[in-house]
Amino acid sequence: MSRRKILYEGKAKILYEGPEPGTLVQYFKDDATAYNAEKKAVIDGKGALNNRLSEFFMRGLTAIGVPNHFIKRLNMREQLIRQVEIIPLEVIVRNFAAGSLGKRLGIEEGTQLPRPIVEFCYKDDSLGDPLVSEEHIIAFGWASQQDLDDMVALALRVNDFLSGVMLAVGIRLVDFKIEIGRVWDGDYQRLIVADEISPDSCRLWDIETGRKLDKDVFRRDLGDLADAYTEVARRLGVLPKGGNGENPRPRLVN
Ligand code: UDP
Repeated sequence: MSRRKILYEGKAKILYEGPEPGTLVQYFKDDATAYNAEKKAVIDGKGALNNRLSEFFMRGLTAIGVPNHFIKRLNMREQLIRQVEIIPLEVIVRNFAAGSLGKRLGIEEGTQLPRPIVEFCYKDDSLGDPLVSEEHIIAFGWASQQDLDDMVALALRVNDFLSGVMLAVGIRLVDFKIEIGRVWDGDYQRLIVADEISPDSCRLWDIETGRKLDKDVFRRDLGDLADAYTEVARRLGVLPKGGNGENPRPRLVN
């Protein structure tokens, strides 16, 4: 790893310079953080699981024509991706009330929303990623009205795809976050899905039991996070039966 140049290191991933211009290597760490990194742990096996799961979802999106950054998986923890210019917004789609929406509006967790709701948060850890309106986004130049329309359309397509994939394996997609980036084909700009799609950035509940299979397990100390992610991967057929293949049995090491 040391031979490659680190371009960016975040809480759960590292981006290295890629082998060709316009590409990057995305490395998935085992680190878990919550509450703006106030709570931290290393979860053995999480990086490998998220690498596989993000690959699975991005490949599915490619198959239905939703453009995204995934090129190919390189190894257990790394994938080759297209370099994008990240739009500094978290795009959140909600199908059921949970987390900050429940708190902000006093809606009981688990209430089905009348339609999917798309929200934008400004990506700035020092401000705690505040919720922003389309007015803010345009006034401060983070994205244009056309970008916003494209982002909403992309987010809703991702929502329909992910909701269906999850429903098929008995999991409810409560909400999720994506990040979107710009790429250029000559003078022509396009927006594509970037970053990752994994249980770190979704709320996933077992439909039968309500068991949480996402990062809330870590946020709220509800059990073993790697067990929950392994269950999602196993149901989706991303792992061979009985384990994740590359790690005998993920366990909490820190
Ligand atoms: N989310 C995320 N990263 C963030 C904030 C939110 O991946 O920095 C995801 C979160 O996992 C959930 C959805 O976005 O699936 C909505 O999160 P919410 O606004 O309810 O915030 P939270 O309760 O997670 O603070």
